[in-house]
Amino acid sequence: MIKHITCHKDKGQISLRECLICASKGDNKCHYTSSMIRAIIEGIKAKKGYQTTMLTGCLRKVYFEKTQELYPEIDTLYSLIKNTSFREHLKYNELDFIHEIALKKKIQLFSTTNEVQTPLAKVTLEGNIAEVNFRTGLIRNYIPCETIPFNQFPLAHHALHLNICLYLLQEDTRWLYGWDPQIFEIVYIDMSRLKRCPVRVFDYIPLDIYIKDSLLLLHNCLTQNASLPLINKKDLWQCESCITREICEKKYIKEIKEGRYDEEKTY
Ligand code: SF4
Ligand code: SF4
Repeated sequence: MIKHITCHKDKGQISLRECLICASKGDNKCHYTSSMIRAIIEGIKAKKGYQTTMLTGCLRKVYFEKTQELYPEIDTLYSLIKNTSFREHLKYNELDFIHEIALKKKIQLFSTTNEVQTPLAKVTLEGNIAEVNFRTGLIRNYIPCETIPFNQFPLAHHALHLNICLYLLQEDTRWLYGWDPQIFEIVYIDMSRLKRCPVRVFDYIPLDIYIKDSLLLLHNCLTQNASLPLINKKDLWQCESCITREICEKKYIKEIKEGRYDEEKTY
């Protein structure tokens, strides 16, 4: 739960609302305007429920974000909503045939005992594809970054995210009726350049299992206050800049120290 921030200037730990009031007065010592703080608050509200981005990294972080009171720095929060702001910019300034699509699907979760599956709960998974071009059959997401990645292929969690969005898109015949998307890519953008990286489309069945297993694990932990999701070693590269690291370290310091030098793979 993010309701507060740690002001990196002189206000200490305060609520987001107080931060907005501070920026609205215009005499704040940071460079954030009131519209930027408002965008941050809107971005946090939009993250309620289950989002596609939650399934592309450390599930324990998602669990902490939803259950613990956090006091992140405003810069950290701004970097979390940068993609959303960028999408808004595209939507209002680019050509007519570019459409952002908001995706939403109810997914049935099952509990399994002695190989018998029983319906457990229906949860809603939501996400966005930044650019869908119906004329050329292109599906694309944009990633603003400090430095364009060197590799030809996108980072693993970006490729996974686009594939989860495709999974939601495939389930929604409103969009796919009579349309056959052909090109899937991530575009990385820094201050002066952009780089297009093709995305491999994952097999449906393993992706379906991955999405449902991840949602089931999160749902069980959140509703039953069960033990925290086990960490997947491939996600430990995120510890370095993790928003919930302080809380996590109290219990899992050894695991984080051992894994944090792993680099994320590309797909
Ligand atoms: S607007 Fe800037 S200076 Fe004011 S509380 Fe927020 S982060 Fe601190
Ligand atoms: S510090 Fe690492 S293991 Fe802990 S929640 Fe964050 S990303 Fe996950």
